[in-house]
Amino acid sequence: MRDAEGNDEIESLSALIARSERIVALTGAGISTESGIPDFRSPGGIWTRYKPIEFGDFLASAEMRRESWRRKFATHETMQKATPNAGHRALARLVELGKMPAVITQNIDGLHQASGVPDDKVIELHGNTTFAACLDCRRRYELDWVREVFAVDERLPVCTACGGHIKTATISFGQSMPEAEMAKAHEVALTADLFIVLGSSLVVYPAAGFPVMAKRNGSRLVIVNREPTDQDDLADLVINAEIGATMSRAVGVN
Ligand SMILES: [Zn+2]
Repeated sequence: MRDAEGNDEIESLSALIARSERIVALTGAGISTESGIPDFRSPGGIWTRYKPIEFGDFLASAEMRRESWRRKFATHETMQKATPNAGHRALARLVELGKMPAVITQNIDGLHQASGVPDDKVIELHGNTTFAACLDCRRRYELDWVREVFAVDERLPVCTACGGHIKTATISFGQSMPEAEMAKAHEVALTADLFIVLGSSLVVYPAAGFPVMAKRNGSRLVIVNREPTDQDDLADLVINAEIGATMSRAVGVN
Protein backbone atom coordinates (compact mmCIF):
# COMPACT_ATOMS: atom_id res chain seq x y z
CA MET A 1 0.00 0.00 0.00
CA ARG A 2 2.69 2.43 0.96
CA ASP A 3 4.71 2.87 -2.18
CA ALA A 4 8.01 4.66 -1.96
CA GLU A 5 6.77 6.73 -4.90
CA GLY A 6 4.61 9.62 -3.75
CA ASN A 7 2.89 9.67 -7.12
CA ASP A 8 1.45 6.20 -6.78
CA GLU A 9 0.10 7.00 -3.35
CA ILE A 10 -1.70 10.05 -4.70
CA GLU A 11 -3.11 8.00 -7.57
CA SER A 12 -4.35 5.43 -5.06
CA LEU A 13 -5.99 8.21 -3.04
CA SER A 14 -7.52 9.68 -6.17
CA ALA A 15 -8.98 6.28 -7.09
CA LEU A 16 -10.40 5.80 -3.59
CA ILE A 17 -12.01 9.24 -3.73
CA ALA A 18 -13.48 8.52 -7.16
CA ARG A 19 -15.21 5.36 -6.05
CA SER A 20 -16.43 6.60 -2.67
CA GLU A 21 -19.78 8.28 -2.08
CA ARG A 22 -19.62 9.37 1.55
CA ILE A 23 -16.19 10.76 2.33
CA VAL A 24 -15.65 12.18 5.81
CA ALA A 25 -12.56 14.21 6.69
CA LEU A 26 -11.02 14.74 10.10
CA THR A 27 -8.60 17.67 10.09
CA GLY A 28 -6.01 18.72 12.65
CA ALA A 29 -3.35 21.39 13.09
CA GLY A 30 -1.29 20.12 10.12
CA ILE A 31 -3.73 21.43 7.52
CA SER A 32 -3.64 24.92 9.04
CA THR A 33 0.12 25.16 9.53
CA GLU A 34 0.22 25.19 5.71
CA SER A 35 -1.80 28.44 5.98
CA GLY A 36 0.72 29.92 8.39
CA ILE A 37 -1.15 29.17 11.60
CA PRO A 38 1.30 27.82 14.16
CA ASP A 39 0.53 24.51 15.82
CA PHE A 40 0.08 25.73 19.37
CA ARG A 41 0.86 22.30 20.76
CA SER A 42 4.12 21.82 18.84
CA PRO A 43 7.52 22.43 20.48
CA GLY A 44 7.93 26.18 20.92
CA GLY A 45 4.17 26.63 20.45
CA ILE A 46 2.30 28.94 22.76
CA TRP A 47 0.90 26.07 24.84
CA THR A 48 4.34 24.76 25.65
CA ARG A 49 5.55 28.22 26.74
CA TYR A 50 2.52 29.08 28.85
CA LYS A 51 0.52 26.80 31.04
CA PRO A 52 -2.94 26.50 29.46
CA ILE A 53 -5.70 28.32 31.30
CA GLU A 54 -8.09 25.72 32.62
CA PHE A 55 -11.78 26.46 32.26
CA GLY A 56 -12.30 26.40 36.03
CA ASP A 57 -9.58 29.03 36.53
CA PHE A 58 -11.11 31.21 33.81
CA LEU A 59 -14.43 31.13 35.67
CA ALA A 60 -12.91 31.64 39.10
CA SER A 61 -10.41 34.40 38.45
CA ALA A 62 -10.71 37.81 36.78
CA GLU A 63 -6.92 37.85 36.37
CA MET A 64 -7.06 34.52 34.48
CA ARG A 65 -9.79 35.96 32.23
CA ARG A 66 -7.58 39.00 31.53
CA GLU A 67 -4.62 36.72 30.84
CA SER A 68 -6.67 34.66 28.37
CA TRP A 69 -7.63 37.82 26.44
CA ARG A 70 -3.99 39.03 26.46
CA ARG A 71 -2.94 35.70 24.91
CA LYS A 72 -5.82 35.80 22.45
CA PHE A 73 -4.94 39.24 21.15
CA ALA A 74 -1.22 38.31 20.99
CA THR A 75 -2.02 35.70 18.30
CA HIS A 76 -5.09 37.42 16.83
CA GLU A 77 -3.33 39.11 13.89
CA THR A 78 -1.73 35.86 12.70
CA MET A 79 -5.11 34.14 12.80
CA GLN A 80 -6.86 37.00 11.03
CA LYS A 81 -4.33 37.08 8.20
CA ALA A 82 -4.47 33.33 7.53
CA THR A 83 -6.35 32.20 4.41
CA PRO A 84 -7.41 28.71 3.30
CA ASN A 85 -4.86 26.65 1.34
CA ALA A 86 -5.17 23.99 -1.37
CA GLY A 87 -5.97 21.34 1.27
CA HIS A 88 -8.98 23.31 2.50
CA ARG A 89 -10.06 24.02 -1.08
CA ALA A 90 -9.89 20.32 -2.03
CA LEU A 91 -12.26 19.47 0.83
CA ALA A 92 -14.58 22.33 -0.10
CA ARG A 93 -14.70 20.92 -3.62
CA LEU A 94 -15.68 17.45 -2.34
CA VAL A 95 -18.43 19.03 -0.25
CA GLU A 96 -19.62 20.98 -3.28
CA LEU A 97 -19.68 17.76 -5.35
CA GLY A 98 -21.96 16.18 -2.73
CA LYS A 99 -19.35 13.54 -1.87
CA MET A 100 -18.42 14.88 1.55
CA PRO A 101 -21.30 15.20 4.05
CA ALA A 102 -19.10 16.85 6.70
CA VAL A 103 -15.65 17.92 7.77
CA ILE A 104 -14.83 17.10 11.39
CA THR A 105 -12.11 19.41 12.66
CA GLN A 106 -9.93 19.81 15.72
CA ASN A 107 -9.01 23.28 14.45
CA ILE A 108 -10.51 26.48 15.79
CA ASP A 109 -9.49 28.84 12.99
CA GLY A 110 -12.64 28.82 10.81
CA LEU A 111 -10.62 28.14 7.63
CA HIS A 112 -12.95 25.40 6.39
CA GLN A 113 -15.83 27.89 6.41
CA ALA A 114 -13.56 30.48 4.78
CA SER A 115 -12.82 27.99 1.98
CA GLY A 116 -16.55 27.70 1.22
CA VAL A 117 -17.74 24.76 3.31
CA PRO A 118 -21.17 25.71 4.72
CA ASP A 119 -21.29 26.19 8.50
CA ASP A 120 -23.59 23.22 9.04
CA LYS A 121 -21.10 20.89 7.35
CA VAL A 122 -18.17 21.84 9.57
CA ILE A 123 -18.14 19.96 12.88
CA GLU A 124 -15.86 21.87 15.25
CA LEU A 125 -14.82 19.61 18.12
CA HIS A 126 -12.81 22.32 19.86
CA GLY A 127 -14.97 25.30 18.99
CA ASN A 128 -14.00 28.44 17.09
CA THR A 129 -11.62 31.22 18.04
CA THR A 130 -12.69 33.73 15.38
CA PHE A 131 -15.54 34.99 17.56
CA ALA A 132 -16.61 35.03 21.20
CA ALA A 133 -19.76 34.07 23.06
CA CYS A 134 -21.45 34.52 26.42
CA LEU A 135 -20.88 31.42 28.55
CA ASP A 136 -24.40 31.67 29.99
CA CYS A 137 -26.75 32.63 27.15
CA ARG A 138 -24.43 31.81 24.17
CA ARG A 139 -25.01 35.25 22.63
CA ARG A 140 -22.33 35.88 20.02
CA TYR A 141 -19.82 38.75 20.26
CA GLU A 142 -17.27 39.84 17.66
CA LEU A 143 -13.62 40.03 18.68
CA ASP A 144 -13.28 43.62 17.47
CA TRP A 145 -15.84 44.62 20.09
CA VAL A 146 -14.08 42.62 22.81
CA ARG A 147 -10.77 44.24 21.85
CA GLU A 148 -12.26 47.73 22.16
CA VAL A 149 -13.60 46.93 25.61
CA PHE A 150 -10.33 45.29 26.70
CA ALA A 151 -8.22 48.17 25.36
CA VAL A 152 -9.56 50.36 28.17
CA ASP A 153 -7.48 49.27 31.19
CA GLU A 154 -7.97 45.60 30.32
CA ARG A 155 -11.65 45.83 31.17
CA LEU A 156 -13.30 42.40 30.94
CA PRO A 157 -16.13 42.02 28.43
CA VAL A 158 -19.47 41.14 30.02
CA CYS A 159 -22.63 39.99 28.22
CA THR A 160 -24.89 42.97 27.58
CA ALA A 161 -27.94 40.68 27.67
CA CYS A 162 -27.36 38.63 30.82
CA GLY A 163 -24.16 39.82 32.50
CA GLY A 164 -22.39 36.49 31.93
CA HIS A 165 -18.68 36.02 31.19
CA ILE A 166 -17.64 36.29 27.57
CA LYS A 167 -15.02 33.89 26.21
CA THR A 168 -13.75 32.93 22.76
CA ALA A 169 -16.07 30.27 21.35
CA THR A 170 -13.43 27.59 21.87
CA ILE A 171 -13.42 24.54 24.12
CA SER A 172 -10.82 25.13 26.84
CA PHE A 173 -8.91 22.54 28.80
CA GLY A 174 -11.25 21.36 31.54
CA GLN A 175 -14.35 22.39 29.58
CA SER A 176 -16.68 19.59 28.51
CA MET A 177 -16.80 18.59 24.84
CA PRO A 178 -19.69 20.12 22.85
CA GLU A 179 -22.43 17.48 22.92
CA ALA A 180 -24.17 18.32 19.65
CA GLU A 181 -20.88 18.34 17.71
CA MET A 182 -19.75 15.09 19.28
CA ALA A 183 -23.05 13.43 18.37
CA LYS A 184 -22.87 14.75 14.79
CA ALA A 185 -19.26 13.59 14.36
CA HIS A 186 -20.13 10.17 15.70
CA GLU A 187 -23.09 9.84 13.36
CA VAL A 188 -21.25 11.00 10.27
CA ALA A 189 -18.19 8.79 11.01
CA LEU A 190 -20.44 5.75 11.04
CA THR A 191 -21.89 6.56 7.61
CA ALA A 192 -18.51 7.04 5.89
CA ASP A 193 -17.29 4.77 3.13
CA LEU A 194 -13.99 6.67 3.07
CA PHE A 195 -12.53 8.45 6.09
CA ILE A 196 -9.57 10.76 5.47
CA VAL A 197 -7.44 12.07 8.33
CA LEU A 198 -5.53 15.22 7.38
CA GLY A 199 -2.84 16.78 9.56
CA SER A 200 -3.79 15.19 12.85
CA SER A 201 -1.33 13.16 14.85
CA LEU A 202 -4.35 11.30 16.31
CA VAL A 203 -3.24 11.56 19.90
CA VAL A 204 -6.04 13.80 21.22
CA TYR A 205 -9.23 11.97 22.15
CA PRO A 206 -12.12 11.89 21.54
CA ALA A 207 -11.19 13.11 18.02
CA ALA A 208 -8.76 10.23 17.53
CA GLY A 209 -11.60 7.77 18.14
CA PHE A 210 -13.54 8.70 15.00
CA PRO A 211 -11.23 7.08 12.39
CA VAL A 212 -11.22 3.86 14.43
CA MET A 213 -15.00 3.97 14.64
CA ALA A 214 -15.35 4.52 10.88
CA LYS A 215 -12.86 1.79 10.02
CA ARG A 216 -14.56 -0.75 12.28
CA ASN A 217 -17.83 0.09 10.59
CA GLY A 218 -16.47 -0.83 7.17
CA SER A 219 -15.06 2.46 5.92
CA ARG A 220 -11.68 2.69 4.25
CA LEU A 221 -9.18 4.84 6.10
CA VAL A 222 -6.56 7.18 4.62
CA ILE A 223 -4.10 9.20 6.72
CA VAL A 224 -2.28 12.18 5.23
CA ASN A 225 0.17 13.62 7.73
CA ARG A 226 3.78 14.78 7.72
CA GLU A 227 4.66 12.42 10.57
CA PRO A 228 3.63 8.84 11.30
CA THR A 229 0.59 8.46 13.58
CA ASP A 230 -0.52 5.84 16.09
CA GLN A 231 -3.19 4.62 13.67
CA ASP A 232 -1.03 4.07 10.57
CA ASP A 233 -1.30 0.30 10.98
CA LEU A 234 -5.08 0.55 10.81
CA ALA A 235 -5.08 2.63 7.62
CA ASP A 236 -5.58 1.39 4.05
CA LEU A 237 -3.27 4.14 2.81
CA VAL A 238 -0.79 6.41 4.58
CA ILE A 239 0.77 9.42 2.87
CA ASN A 240 3.50 11.30 4.73
CA ALA A 241 3.51 14.50 2.71
CA GLU A 242 2.13 18.03 2.54
CA ILE A 243 -1.64 18.10 2.64
CA GLY A 244 -2.18 20.93 0.14
CA ALA A 245 0.00 19.37 -2.55
CA THR A 246 -1.41 15.89 -1.95
CA MET A 247 -5.09 16.79 -1.83
CA SER A 248 -5.03 19.28 -4.68
CA ARG A 249 -3.65 16.59 -6.97
CA ALA A 250 -5.89 13.83 -5.63
CA VAL A 251 -9.04 15.94 -6.03
CA GLY A 252 -7.93 18.00 -9.02
CA VAL A 253 -8.17 21.53 -7.64
CA ASN A 254 -5.61 24.32 -7.33
ZN1 LIG B 1 -25.34 36.27 28.14
